[in-house]
Amino acid sequence: MATIAWIGLGHMGGPMAGNLVAAGHIVRGVDPVPAARTAAAERGVRIVATVEEAVRDADAVFTSLPRSEHVREVYGGEDGVWAAAPASALLLDTSTVDVATSRFCHETSVERGFRFVDSPVSGGIAGAEAATLTFMLGGDPVDVAEATQLVRPLAAHVFDLGGPTMGIAAKLANNLMLFVSLLGVAEGSQLAAELGLDPSKFFEVASVSSGESWPLRTWYPAPGVVPTSPANRGFDATFSAVLAQKDLAFALDAGDAAGLPMPASRIALEQFERLIDEGFGGKDASLIVKYASADGSV
Ligand code: NAD
Repeated sequence: MATIAWIGLGHMGGPMAGNLVAAGHIVRGVDPVPAARTAAAERGVRIVATVEEAVRDADAVFTSLPRSEHVREVYGGEDGVWAAAPASALLLDTSTVDVATSRFCHETSVERGFRFVDSPVSGGIAGAEAATLTFMLGGDPVDVAEATQLVRPLAAHVFDLGGPTMGIAAKLANNLMLFVSLLGVAEGSQLAAELGLDPSKFFEVASVSSGESWPLRTWYPAPGVVPTSPANRGFDATFSAVLAQKDLAFALDAGDAAGLPMPASRIALEQFERLIDEGFGGKDASLIVKYASADGSV
């Protein structure tokens, strides 16, 4: 049994922290949002008021935060993780951040005598609840082995991807493929409907043919075709347009730095930016189907 600090008890962090409690650990959690704290407390997380209180004497510190700037602040702030945690604590960031932030966390952790593992996840809120996430780990092999033991109760798959930032590299490349595929699913679903196909019949064909993909299977963007589709619930977010924009922008930053053209990613990014500009940033990423329809309706 370990004493674990969990910083950020949102859609992903709350269930993951709860699943560590279920695995027998003491978990001390912190989040500025009262509803997140209440939900985590119901999962057995011991709520504390500050990062400093959460990380004191912890064996491991997890972060699950919205954006890179939150991660930099929570680690580097005056009473942040590096200032307040014991140097023996293993530090794991499960947030999706840009490569530069992940590198900063690795380098500063080493400078300050800590061990850091970039630990982004795939599998969404459902995967966090069901403890079936995919963890992509990057860091020193000994630290990654320790991280693997800790995240096992949260995961269906845990990958050691090599050195620092390799976890976030895998996460960004994976999500780039997801969102570019989603654009194809949106356009294909609209073309099928315009040509007179019944959506469920077309889905049946595509899901056993070469058009098959995760967004097709999970987010088919027409109501009543697949039970997990946000289209069945007015495009309430399972993965918001804001998060999709963030992940694709990070992937493009990394691609630009590597000199890659990535034209399809740029077009997909524009679709998510348009959703955000038009006030749909909190809606599901699959709402980009509206820009693939003949009259903008869904
Ligand atoms: P979320 O906004 O639901 O949760 C983040 C939580 O962090 C919020 O409750 C917020 O109040 C809290 N927070 C912000 N600043 C804080 C601080 N200084 N100290 C403590 N807590 C603070 O977001 P989420 O959907 O849980 O995503 C978390 C991370 O996981 C993001 O980086 C996201 O990109 C990534 N991710 C999300 C999904 C998904 O499907 N939602 C899937 C994979 C990865």
